[in-house]
Amino acid sequence: MCFRPAATVTIVKCLECGTFNKPTDETCKKCGTDLTASRKAAEDAIAATAPAPSEISLTPQGLDDAPKAPGAPKAPAAPKAPGAPKN
Ligand SMILES: [Zn+2]
Repeated sequence: MCFRPAATVTIVKCLECGTFNKPTDETCKKCGTDLTASRKAAEDAIAATAPAPSEISLTPQGLDDAPKAPGAPKAPAAPKAPGAPKN
């Protein structure tokens, strides 16, 4: 299976011994430490790297009143190709 959601813990590293465990494991397979804290740390790490959708502003503000950037050149008109056949 290739499909993998973007923000999903796929592996949990034991905070005690560093062993990688499946996120479905309750305890470390090596040392038996409860992986709840480790799983939480992994989720926090993902949350820290993934962009929060709430940060995206969907409301344009003052686009009509915004002054044009000074010195911004207008888009040059495309020169007509000489001899180009019209349709
Ligand atoms: Zn461990």
